[in-house]
Amino acid sequence: MRQDQLPLLISGPCSAETQAQLLATAEALVGLPLSYFRAGIWKPRTQPGAFEGVGENGLRWLQEVKKTYGFKICTEVATAEHVALAEQYELDMVWIGARSTVNPFTVQELAEALQGKNIPVMVKNPVNPDLKLWLGAIERLERHQIEVIGAIHRGFSVYEKTNYRNNPHWQIAIDLKQERPELNLIMDPSHIGGRSNLIQPLAQQALDLNYDGLMIESHIDPDKAWTDAKQQISPQKLKEIYTELEPRNPAAVQANALAAYREQLSIIDDSLINLLQQRMAISKEIGVHKRQHNQHILQAQRWEETLKANLQKALDSGLSEEFAKQMIKMLHEESLRIQMAVNSQNNNDHSGK
Ligand code: PEP
Ligand code: MN
Repeated sequence: MRQDQLPLLISGPCSAETQAQLLATAEALVGLPLSYFRAGIWKPRTQPGAFEGVGENGLRWLQEVKKTYGFKICTEVATAEHVALAEQYELDMVWIGARSTVNPFTVQELAEALQGKNIPVMVKNPVNPDLKLWLGAIERLERHQIEVIGAIHRGFSVYEKTNYRNNPHWQIAIDLKQERPELNLIMDPSHIGGRSNLIQPLAQQALDLNYDGLMIESHIDPDKAWTDAKQQISPQKLKEIYTELEPRNPAAVQANALAAYREQLSIIDDSLINLLQQRMAISKEIGVHKRQHNQHILQAQRWEETLKANLQKALDSGLSEEFAKQMIKMLHEESLRIQMAVNSQNNNDHSGK
């Protein structure tokens, strides 16, 4: 893959652990067109008592990486003190982590600390799936004349165990790019996937979705990593993945074939909207009927049976369980809303009499 086909590549370990680990990782990454070498210096751990980063020493080692291998260097900052040290050690970029983006007070503190420092910033998505919060953090920084050069999509926290460590919610990243097309959209497959074998397919997906770059955690000895061991890959593995990634060339996509598919989608979308409208009209009739016969709007047993039956049909047809469940629930919710509206209208009519 040529460098211009993926403008930004950021890699390096989840955490700086030792001087030897950091330098060996950087040395093994030589040959890749790295835009920045990354390493976490202060680690936001979910629970106390775990390794929380090496602190200022790590910044010295990062400087050594820069001097020895010529890579630009970056780390995560979460407090004004981190920012002051990042400036002191001449970091080329800093990013704001998912647990900081979520908190407007923290972002505000960082914005004030970064103002006038001339350090470009990237902003990871917040841990919760909230586009406005992500955009809000970016805007908060920009109001302090800080140069935001990228938004990093690292997925959103989940409670139930899923295939991914963090739910990608692709639409949020796509919406962000639509709102702010001039910003580089970077994918972090390490934190989305949470497993080393998901890096390659997710990175390819980033290219398919026209992302501007990738941030991938790499470690000289991933199995022994002090943090995020399951998701880190060796620099050698990253080189293999990088070589195998297939860029999509928009000009080479057969425009006609694409147009035909889009036309088909548009016809199907029209039918879907039409069917939804018909379904809701019937729901309204049912609402009138229930009102006239003084029946409950929510009939739990019927709802349970419908959910089960429809879910089975959807699964049999090959739709994903998550999507099918959400879709069926949304349809039901909207039907209830319509029936409640019928009810309250009738109530008003009665009270008027
Ligand atoms: C990291 O990049 O190592 C990190 C802690 O990321 P996030 O803020 O996405 O959890
Ligand atoms: Mn990490």
